[in-house]
Amino acid sequence: MRLGFIGLGAIGFPIATRLAEHHDMAVWNRTASRALTLARTSGVTAVGTPAAVAKGAAIVLTCLPSSPELEEVLDGPEGLAAGLESGALLVDLTSGIPDRSRIIAERLAGQGVDFLDAPVSGGTAGAEAGILTVMVGGSAQGFARAEPVLQAFGRRIVHVGPVGAGHALKAVHNALIAVHLAALGEGLTALARAGVAPATALAVINAANGRSFVSEQLFPERVLTGQWPRTFRLALLDKDVGIAKGLTEALGLEAPVIGLVSELLHQGRETLGDEVDHVEWIKLYEQRAGVELRG
Ligand code: NDP
Repeated sequence: MRLGFIGLGAIGFPIATRLAEHHDMAVWNRTASRALTLARTSGVTAVGTPAAVAKGAAIVLTCLPSSPELEEVLDGPEGLAAGLESGALLVDLTSGIPDRSRIIAERLAGQGVDFLDAPVSGGTAGAEAGILTVMVGGSAQGFARAEPVLQAFGRRIVHVGPVGAGHALKAVHNALIAVHLAALGEGLTALARAGVAPATALAVINAANGRSFVSEQLFPERVLTGQWPRTFRLALLDKDVGIAKGLTEALGLEAPVIGLVSELLHQGRETLGDEVDHVEWIKLYEQRAGVELRG
């Protein structure tokens, strides 16, 4: 099947690499060098515009920072919308904004194009290994078409509801990661000051019921070792929790925990900048408490 792919960032690149093993694919990336690298390594065709990606493609996948960037890519005479053919399917792997996705879906339906929001979880390592979780919003028919394609990089692929449902679930999911990061940052620095070594504290937490992915993997692999690989930018986590906060506000629900962690993330991003990894947020907790969690 002929595919198109747009957005070869930290996670888009390994996803596209896996798709290229099974399909003919045209790719476009804002910074052309990344598309040319993928063309060299995986035999995809690098093209010059988003519209050209869609030419002859049954399914186009996008993996961009958020929904406004997808709208930018769709717009204009050489934009993706201009190239999508009637009967095509757009699968947005971006962790985007539910309301904006519904508007995009309506707009594309007007030209006979189906739309799914299909954000992923599992990180860049999960993408390389082809074991991502994919949460899909949209029509049952669109899901049935997309599922075999998503299997190139996904292990758990779940149809979670109508358009926007995937993005809503992903935002809440990432709010949970942020809550765990903040709570462990506060808790482990306090314990270190109280004389409990971080490694000991984590070993006990991970053998008991307070554990999470953050305590079981991110802290042992990164914070304790002092290795801070840049796989998922703090700016993107800040964006995701902002989307979760917007969701609760739009529904008129009180969500003080999500609201507070969103505010804390904004502050962290302002201090540390847009390019640091999300786990590097813990450095601020270490600085504030005057301790290092290494070891
Ligand atoms: P990156 O910041 O690494 O990459 C973003 C990609 O979008 C790049 O290809 C970039 O192009 C492109 N882009 C940015 N702005 C524009 C624009 N205005 N117009 C066109 N292209 C643009 O992000 P990730 O790959 O890490 O994340 C992509 C999505 O996946 C996000 O929604 C993120 O939340 C989600 N995600 C990421 C995970 C991760 O572990 N990294 C895990 C799960 C979900 P250029 O190369 O020119 O900068």
